[in-house]
Amino acid sequence: MKHRRSIELAPPDSHAVEIEKETLSTLPRWYIIHARCRRCRHETSIDRQEIARRYGDDLSLAKLARRLKCQGCGNRSDNVLLLQKLPRD
Ligand SMILES: [Zn+2]
Repeated sequence: MKHRRSIELAPPDSHAVEIEKETLSTLPRWYIIHARCRRCRHETSIDRQEIARRYGDDLSLAKLARRLKCQGCGNRSDNVLLLQKLPRD
């Protein structure tokens, strides 16, 4: 008996996070947040607990992205958040 293969809409590994909805408290713990400056490409990881303490953990990731200031060049606009998923075990 043959099974019809279903069509996959997205590769299984692409686990998109909706940054407008996701907040520091709803984002799973195994994500590490990095920020990258669009202007000088400076990249740094963000301490989630530190940010949550300062801004509250209901801050959405989209809002967080807009509050970032590059430590390299001082740029505040269009900075990008990158989420790194840690292996769970
Ligand atoms: Zn910069």
